[in-house]
Amino acid sequence: MSRFVFLDRDGTLVRDAGYTHRVEDCELLPGVVDGLRRLAQAGYRLAIVTNQSGIGRGYFRSADFEAFQRRLLQDLARAGISIEATYHCPHRPDAGCDCRTPEPGLLFRARDELGADLARSWVIGDSERDIELARRAGCAGAVRVPKNGAAEGAETPGTGAHSAPDLAAAAAKILERER
Ligand SMILES: [Mg+2]
Ligand SMILES: [Zn+2]
Repeated sequence: MSRFVFLDRDGTLVRDAGYTHRVEDCELLPGVVDGLRRLAQAGYRLAIVTNQSGIGRGYFRSADFEAFQRRLLQDLARAGISIEATYHCPHRPDAGCDCRTPEPGLLFRARDELGADLARSWVIGDSERDIELARRAGCAGAVRVPKNGAAEGAETPGTGAHSAPDLAAAAAKILERER
């Protein structure tokens, strides 16, 4: 069993343009490379957990999602960062599935398939939903970052115990909690 940091994708790792799926829109946010590097160096394994209802709604195809992922993972690999798995929910919100965040289904899959020790794992995301996901899955905690980065200033992180201005600061917060 090992420790993971589960990462929301849109608005957290890459700019959320709204149903983001075009490869040319794949833009890493400030602090992402630095933060992920720190977490990996500290021994955390990394996985992406993302709602992609645009697939179920028919806004884009699974193949578009896969192409975007390939591009994102390639950009991160180039920076020396390896993401072990991507779990996504393709369903519409009204489908009643058990995998749409904050339902914990995707994290339970990560536990079963990757041996994730959820009680020692964290979630980083830009929405209250990501924080709730961590709670429902029994994670150690969650850190909320502002959607699309602090520079945009669109949304201040919630009042939850843990929030950080960007992913590098979120990583520092997790590592500090560990000591
Ligand atoms: Mg998000
Ligand atoms: Zn689902």
